[in-house]
Amino acid sequence: IVVASGKGGVGKSTIAANLSFAFARRGLKVGLLDADITGPSLPTLLGAAERPSTRDGKIAPVERHGVSAMSIGYLVDADKAVAWRGPMVMGAVRQLIGDVAWGALDVLIVDTPPGTSDAHLTLAQSGIVSGVVIVSTPQKLALADVRRGAALFSGVGASILGVIENMAWIETPKGPAPLFGEGGAARLAAEIGAPFLGALPLWPDLAAASDAGAPLPPDHAASLAFDAIAAALALALRLD
Ligand code: ADP
Repeated sequence: IVVASGKGGVGKSTIAANLSFAFARRGLKVGLLDADITGPSLPTLLGAAERPSTRDGKIAPVERHGVSAMSIGYLVDADKAVAWRGPMVMGAVRQLIGDVAWGALDVLIVDTPPGTSDAHLTLAQSGIVSGVVIVSTPQKLALADVRRGAALFSGVGASILGVIENMAWIETPKGPAPLFGEGGAARLAAEIGAPFLGALPLWPDLAAASDAGAPLPPDHAASLAFDAIAAALALALRLD
């Protein structure tokens, strides 16, 4: 499952990581691949910075919070890959897919850079993508980018599994307060003919947990919301 967005900063990496935790809670064997080569966020989100070991001539994924993860951030120094372009990015994505000892996974969640980039093209060509989840905030719609991304993956037989609206509101003592307008992502889903997978609020706990590299407890409202989305995706892809 590729997690994509038109724009950056909408919570795509946070959602990719938390969906992988939710699939792991369902008892599935989950991989989490960070295909953002020039701006990897997985090492921070998972709270693991160690260099991976090798297994049978391949790179062993980093095992954290019940998930097998790999990111360029585990393999090269942070300031190196930032400057990589085109063929180097594509080569790195191919390596993260093919040269990692992923083992037998039930589902691989792939975090991607914003927009439609070399990483997306490489993923589409790799033949491993079954579905795409699009993340947007209510105002950062970037419809043209989303359409381009959707067309790229539909063209290789992947289904557009749906749109998640993130940072939709914040809880205040007076009740929920919308942050960037309302209903934008649901309209986006309708425009591209994809299911709307739900709206998520801004959870201060989630931001803190992401920075700390530790998942929220399973009974936290955020974990339950990710469980519900994972259940819908598992049904759509017949994963259980
Ligand atoms: P992207 O991958 O789209 O660039 P990130 O996942 O890095 O976005 O999220 C951007 C920032 O917003 C991070 O600091 C993250 O912790 C925070 N964030 C994302 N979604 C939420 C949310 N629903 N509630 C609270 N903080 C969030």
